[in-house]
Amino acid sequence: MSNPISYRQELTGVFGYPVDENPTVVMMKAAFEALDLPWCYLNMKVRPEALAAGIEGLRAMGFQGVNLTIPHKCAVLEHLDEVADDARIMGAVNTVYRRQDRLIGANTDGKGFLRALGDDAGLDPAGKKFLILGAGGAARAITVELALAGAREIIVVNRDASRGRELVALLQANTKVRTSYQAWVENLAVPDDCDVLVNATSIGLYPQIDERPPLDYASIRQGLVVCDVIPNPPRTRFLEAAAARGAVTLDGLGMLVYQGAIAFKLWTGKDAPVAVMKAALAKEFASA
Ligand code: NDP
Repeated sequence: MSNPISYRQELTGVFGYPVDENPTVVMMKAAFEALDLPWCYLNMKVRPEALAAGIEGLRAMGFQGVNLTIPHKCAVLEHLDEVADDARIMGAVNTVYRRQDRLIGANTDGKGFLRALGDDAGLDPAGKKFLILGAGGAARAITVELALAGAREIIVVNRDASRGRELVALLQANTKVRTSYQAWVENLAVPDDCDVLVNATSIGLYPQIDERPPLDYASIRQGLVVCDVIPNPPRTRFLEAAAARGAVTLDGLGMLVYQGAIAFKLWTGKDAPVAVMKAALAKEFASA
Protein backbone atom coordinates (compact mmCIF):
# COMPACT_ATOMS: atom_id res chain seq x y z
CA MET A 1 0.00 0.00 0.00
CA SER A 2 1.43 3.42 -0.91
CA ASN A 3 2.00 6.07 1.76
CA PRO A 4 -0.79 8.64 2.25
CA ILE A 5 -0.01 11.97 0.61
CA SER A 6 1.54 14.59 2.90
CA TYR A 7 2.78 17.99 1.87
CA ARG A 8 3.90 18.83 5.42
CA GLN A 9 7.57 19.52 6.04
CA GLU A 10 9.59 18.94 9.19
CA LEU A 11 11.09 22.25 10.32
CA THR A 12 14.65 23.07 11.41
CA GLY A 13 16.86 26.12 11.00
CA VAL A 14 19.07 28.61 12.74
CA PHE A 15 18.37 31.59 15.01
CA GLY A 16 20.90 34.40 14.63
CA TYR A 17 21.28 38.16 14.47
CA PRO A 18 22.70 38.66 11.91
CA VAL A 19 21.96 35.41 10.13
CA ASP A 20 21.79 36.18 6.40
CA GLU A 21 25.32 34.91 5.66
CA ASN A 22 25.13 31.72 7.74
CA PRO A 23 25.93 28.93 5.25
CA THR A 24 24.70 25.92 7.26
CA VAL A 25 21.51 25.85 5.18
CA VAL A 26 23.58 24.84 2.14
CA MET A 27 24.85 21.60 3.71
CA MET A 28 21.59 20.78 5.50
CA LYS A 29 19.53 21.23 2.34
CA ALA A 30 21.95 18.98 0.44
CA ALA A 31 21.73 16.37 3.21
CA PHE A 32 17.90 16.37 3.33
CA GLU A 33 17.78 16.02 -0.46
CA ALA A 34 20.35 13.22 -0.52
CA LEU A 35 18.28 11.20 1.96
CA ASP A 36 15.00 12.22 0.31
CA LEU A 37 13.66 13.68 3.56
CA PRO A 38 10.77 16.19 3.49
CA TRP A 39 12.66 18.50 5.87
CA CYS A 40 13.66 22.15 5.54
CA TYR A 41 16.20 24.46 7.20
CA LEU A 42 15.40 28.17 7.64
CA ASN A 43 17.73 31.09 8.39
CA MET A 44 15.72 33.04 10.98
CA LYS A 45 16.64 36.58 11.98
CA VAL A 46 15.80 36.69 15.69
CA ARG A 47 16.61 39.81 17.69
CA PRO A 48 18.18 39.23 21.13
CA GLU A 49 15.07 40.53 22.92
CA ALA A 50 12.84 38.19 20.85
CA LEU A 51 14.65 34.96 21.79
CA ALA A 52 12.08 33.78 24.36
CA ALA A 53 9.23 34.39 21.90
CA GLY A 54 11.23 32.63 19.19
CA ILE A 55 11.63 29.52 21.35
CA GLU A 56 7.91 29.55 22.16
CA GLY A 57 7.31 29.79 18.41
CA LEU A 58 9.41 26.67 17.86
CA ARG A 59 7.33 24.81 20.41
CA ALA A 60 4.06 26.03 18.88
CA MET A 61 5.06 25.06 15.36
CA GLY A 62 6.53 21.70 16.34
CA PHE A 63 10.02 22.40 15.04
CA GLN A 64 12.32 19.36 15.22
CA GLY A 65 15.14 21.63 16.33
CA VAL A 66 17.35 24.60 15.56
CA ASN A 67 20.92 25.79 15.59
CA LEU A 68 21.86 28.90 17.56
CA THR A 69 24.47 31.40 16.49
CA ILE A 70 25.54 34.88 17.59
CA PRO A 71 24.13 36.31 19.89
CA HIS A 72 21.92 33.45 21.19
CA LYS A 73 24.29 30.60 22.13
CA CYS A 74 24.49 31.50 25.83
CA ALA A 75 21.13 33.23 26.32
CA VAL A 76 19.16 30.23 25.05
CA LEU A 77 20.07 28.00 28.02
CA GLU A 78 17.39 29.44 30.31
CA HIS A 79 14.63 28.75 27.78
CA LEU A 80 15.25 25.01 27.42
CA ASP A 81 13.88 22.00 29.32
CA GLU A 82 17.24 20.24 29.54
CA VAL A 83 20.88 20.98 28.67
CA ALA A 84 23.61 18.37 28.06
CA ASP A 85 26.43 18.33 30.63
CA ASP A 86 29.18 19.46 28.24
CA ALA A 87 27.07 22.34 26.91
CA ARG A 88 26.32 23.40 30.48
CA ILE A 89 30.06 23.49 31.28
CA MET A 90 30.68 25.61 28.16
CA GLY A 91 27.67 27.76 29.01
CA ALA A 92 26.72 27.62 25.33
CA VAL A 93 24.25 25.69 23.18
CA ASN A 94 24.54 25.58 19.38
CA THR A 95 21.90 22.91 18.74
CA VAL A 96 18.41 22.40 20.15
CA TYR A 97 16.54 19.18 19.46
CA ARG A 98 13.11 17.91 20.48
CA ARG A 99 12.19 14.75 22.35
CA GLN A 100 8.39 14.56 22.61
CA ASP A 101 7.52 18.04 23.91
CA ARG A 102 10.87 18.72 25.54
CA LEU A 103 13.51 20.98 24.00
CA ILE A 104 17.04 19.82 24.77
CA GLY A 105 20.22 21.86 24.32
CA ALA A 106 23.52 20.44 23.07
CA ASN A 107 26.78 21.82 21.77
CA THR A 108 28.13 20.00 18.72
CA ASP A 109 31.06 22.35 17.88
CA GLY A 110 33.67 20.60 20.02
CA LYS A 111 32.29 17.16 19.17
CA GLY A 112 32.57 18.03 15.49
CA PHE A 113 36.21 18.90 16.07
CA LEU A 114 36.79 15.60 17.90
CA ARG A 115 35.17 13.65 15.09
CA ALA A 116 37.39 15.39 12.51
CA LEU A 117 40.42 14.47 14.63
CA GLY A 118 39.36 10.83 14.88
CA ASP A 119 37.88 10.20 11.43
CA ASP A 120 40.22 12.33 9.32
CA ALA A 121 43.52 12.25 11.26
CA GLY A 122 43.08 8.94 13.12
CA LEU A 123 43.94 10.68 16.39
CA ASP A 124 42.49 9.77 19.80
CA PRO A 125 42.87 12.82 22.10
CA ALA A 126 43.30 10.64 25.21
CA GLY A 127 46.77 11.15 26.68
CA LYS A 128 47.73 13.84 24.14
CA LYS A 129 49.05 17.37 24.69
CA PHE A 130 47.33 20.29 22.91
CA LEU A 131 48.35 23.89 22.24
CA ILE A 132 45.21 25.95 21.60
CA LEU A 133 45.36 29.44 20.09
CA GLY A 134 42.28 31.41 21.16
CA ALA A 135 39.83 31.47 24.08
CA GLY A 136 36.52 32.39 22.43
CA GLY A 137 33.46 30.23 21.80
CA ALA A 138 35.19 27.80 19.45
CA ALA A 139 38.18 27.35 21.78
CA ARG A 140 35.85 26.84 24.73
CA ALA A 141 33.86 24.12 22.95
CA ILE A 142 36.98 22.35 21.69
CA THR A 143 38.90 22.42 24.98
CA VAL A 144 35.95 21.20 27.08
CA GLU A 145 35.44 18.20 24.76
CA LEU A 146 39.19 17.47 24.65
CA ALA A 147 39.35 17.56 28.44
CA LEU A 148 36.31 15.29 28.78
CA ALA A 149 37.86 12.92 26.21
CA GLY A 150 40.97 12.48 28.40
CA ALA A 151 43.52 14.89 26.90
CA ARG A 152 46.73 14.86 28.99
CA GLU A 153 47.40 18.58 28.87
CA ILE A 154 45.93 21.72 27.29
CA ILE A 155 47.87 24.98 26.98
CA VAL A 156 45.69 27.98 26.14
CA VAL A 157 47.30 30.95 24.37
CA ASN A 158 45.19 34.06 23.84
CA ARG A 159 45.73 37.70 22.94
CA ASP A 160 43.48 38.88 25.79
CA ALA A 161 45.07 37.38 28.91
CA SER A 162 41.98 37.67 31.12
CA ARG A 163 39.86 35.74 28.62
CA GLY A 164 42.58 33.09 28.32
CA ARG A 165 42.84 32.69 32.10
CA GLU A 166 39.05 32.52 32.37
CA LEU A 167 38.98 29.53 30.02
CA VAL A 168 41.74 27.79 31.99
CA ALA A 169 39.80 28.38 35.24
CA LEU A 170 36.65 26.93 33.65
CA LEU A 171 38.54 23.78 32.57
CA GLN A 172 40.13 23.41 36.01
CA ALA A 173 36.80 23.80 37.80
CA ASN A 174 34.90 21.32 35.62
CA THR A 175 37.36 18.74 34.29
CA LYS A 176 40.46 16.83 35.39
CA VAL A 177 42.77 18.01 32.61
CA ARG A 178 46.14 19.60 33.37
CA THR A 179 45.87 23.08 31.90
CA SER A 180 47.60 26.46 31.91
CA TYR A 181 47.51 29.86 30.25
CA GLN A 182 50.48 31.09 28.27
CA ALA A 183 50.88 34.66 27.03
CA TRP A 184 50.98 35.17 23.26
CA VAL A 185 54.62 36.24 23.09
CA GLU A 186 56.43 37.23 19.91
CA ASN A 187 57.75 34.19 18.05
CA LEU A 188 55.61 31.80 20.06
CA ALA A 189 57.06 28.29 19.68
CA VAL A 190 55.21 24.97 19.70
CA PRO A 191 56.62 22.80 22.55
CA ASP A 192 58.51 19.68 21.41
CA ASP A 193 56.21 17.35 23.35
CA CYS A 194 53.01 18.87 21.92
CA ASP A 195 50.89 16.46 19.83
CA VAL A 196 48.30 18.84 18.35
CA LEU A 197 48.27 22.58 17.55
CA VAL A 198 44.88 24.25 17.00
CA ASN A 199 44.08 27.69 15.63
CA ALA A 200 40.77 28.46 17.34
CA THR A 201 40.97 32.21 16.64
CA SER A 202 39.25 33.98 13.76
CA ILE A 203 42.60 34.95 12.19
CA GLY A 204 42.53 34.02 8.48
CA LEU A 205 38.74 33.97 8.10
CA TYR A 206 37.41 35.34 4.79
CA PRO A 207 37.94 38.14 3.75
CA GLN A 208 41.19 38.36 5.80
CA ILE A 209 42.55 35.34 3.96
CA ASP A 210 46.19 36.48 3.87
CA GLU A 211 46.49 36.58 7.66
CA ARG A 212 47.82 33.79 9.87
CA PRO A 213 48.48 33.55 13.62
CA PRO A 214 51.92 34.97 14.56
CA LEU A 215 54.07 31.95 15.52
CA ASP A 216 57.54 30.54 15.16
CA TYR A 217 56.54 28.30 12.25
CA ALA A 218 60.00 26.68 12.29
CA SER A 219 58.97 25.02 15.59
CA ILE A 220 56.29 22.98 13.75
CA ARG A 221 57.81 19.53 13.39
CA GLN A 222 57.03 16.82 10.88
CA GLY A 223 54.02 14.71 11.90
CA LEU A 224 52.56 17.31 14.29
CA VAL A 225 48.78 17.45 13.84
CA VAL A 226 47.79 21.04 13.03
CA CYS A 227 44.12 22.06 12.92
CA ASP A 228 42.30 25.23 11.92
CA VAL A 229 38.71 26.11 12.88
CA ILE A 230 38.37 28.53 9.95
CA PRO A 231 35.95 26.93 7.48
CA ASN A 232 36.24 29.60 4.78
CA PRO A 233 38.68 29.35 3.10
CA PRO A 234 39.33 25.71 4.04
CA ARG A 235 43.00 25.99 3.02
CA THR A 236 44.23 28.84 5.25
CA ARG A 237 47.70 30.42 5.23
CA PHE A 238 48.15 28.82 8.67
CA LEU A 239 47.54 25.31 7.32
CA GLU A 240 49.66 25.98 4.24
CA ALA A 241 52.61 26.98 6.42
CA ALA A 242 52.13 23.94 8.69
CA ALA A 243 51.89 21.57 5.70
CA ALA A 244 55.11 23.05 4.30
CA ARG A 245 56.79 21.96 7.57
CA GLY A 246 55.50 18.38 7.14
CA ALA A 247 52.57 18.63 9.57
CA VAL A 248 49.35 16.62 9.21
CA THR A 249 46.65 19.25 8.64
CA LEU A 250 42.92 19.34 9.39
CA ASP A 251 40.73 22.16 8.10
CA GLY A 252 37.72 23.89 9.67
CA LEU A 253 35.42 22.80 6.88
CA GLY A 254 35.60 19.26 8.27
CA MET A 255 34.73 20.50 11.78
CA LEU A 256 31.83 22.55 10.41
CA VAL A 257 30.45 19.58 8.49
CA TYR A 258 30.84 17.14 11.41
CA GLN A 259 29.20 19.48 13.95
CA GLY A 260 26.32 19.79 11.47
CA ALA A 261 26.26 16.03 10.93
CA ILE A 262 25.87 15.49 14.69
CA ALA A 263 22.95 17.96 14.78
CA PHE A 264 21.43 16.25 11.72
CA LYS A 265 21.48 12.90 13.54
CA LEU A 266 19.95 14.41 16.70
CA TRP A 267 17.11 15.85 14.59
CA THR A 268 16.43 13.10 12.05
CA GLY A 269 17.80 10.00 13.81
CA LYS A 270 19.70 9.21 10.59
CA ASP A 271 23.42 9.20 9.82
CA ALA A 272 24.27 12.35 7.90
CA PRO A 273 25.71 12.09 4.37
CA VAL A 274 28.93 13.92 5.33
CA ALA A 275 30.56 13.69 1.88
CA VAL A 276 27.50 15.32 0.28
CA MET A 277 27.46 18.06 2.93
CA LYS A 278 31.17 18.76 2.57
CA ALA A 279 30.96 18.93 -1.23
CA ALA A 280 27.98 21.32 -1.05
CA LEU A 281 29.79 23.70 1.31
CA ALA A 282 33.12 23.52 -0.54
CA LYS A 283 31.28 24.43 -3.78
CA GLU A 284 29.50 27.28 -2.03
CA PHE A 285 32.73 28.72 -0.57
CA ALA A 286 34.53 28.38 -3.92
CA SER A 287 31.81 30.37 -5.68
CA ALA A 288 31.31 33.04 -2.98
P1 NDP B 1 35.00 34.61 19.38
O1 NDP B 1 34.74 36.00 18.95
O2 NDP B 1 34.28 34.05 20.56
O3 NDP B 1 36.59 34.43 19.66
C1 NDP B 1 37.54 34.92 18.75
C2 NDP B 1 38.93 34.47 19.18
O4 NDP B 1 39.88 34.87 18.19
C3 NDP B 1 39.38 35.09 20.50
O5 NDP B 1 40.22 34.21 21.18
C4 NDP B 1 40.18 36.32 20.00
O6 NDP B 1 41.14 36.75 20.92
C5 NDP B 1 40.87 35.70 18.81
N1 NDP B 1 41.33 36.69 17.84
C6 NDP B 1 40.58 37.34 16.91
N2 NDP B 1 41.36 38.19 16.19
C7 NDP B 1 42.62 38.06 16.68
C8 NDP B 1 43.87 38.65 16.36
N3 NDP B 1 43.99 39.54 15.37
N4 NDP B 1 44.98 38.28 17.05
C9 NDP B 1 44.87 37.36 18.05
N5 NDP B 1 43.72 36.77 18.41
C10 NDP B 1 42.61 37.11 17.74
O7 NDP B 1 34.75 33.73 18.09
P2 NDP B 1 34.51 32.15 18.00
O8 NDP B 1 35.40 31.46 18.97
O9 NDP B 1 33.06 31.87 18.05
O10 NDP B 1 34.98 31.87 16.52
C11 NDP B 1 36.36 31.84 16.20
C12 NDP B 1 36.50 31.27 14.80
O11 NDP B 1 36.06 29.92 14.82
C13 NDP B 1 35.64 31.99 13.74
O12 NDP B 1 36.45 32.22 12.62
C14 NDP B 1 34.56 30.99 13.39
O13 NDP B 1 34.24 31.04 12.02
C15 NDP B 1 35.26 29.67 13.69
N6 NDP B 1 34.33 28.61 14.05
C16 NDP B 1 34.38 27.49 13.29
C17 NDP B 1 33.55 26.44 13.56
C18 NDP B 1 33.61 25.25 12.70
O14 NDP B 1 32.73 24.39 12.83
N7 NDP B 1 34.61 25.13 11.83
C19 NDP B 1 32.58 26.48 14.68
C20 NDP B 1 32.64 27.70 15.45
C21 NDP B 1 33.48 28.72 15.13
P3 NDP B 1 40.78 37.87 22.04
O15 NDP B 1 40.05 37.12 23.14
O16 NDP B 1 42.10 38.39 22.44
O17 NDP B 1 39.91 38.91 21.35
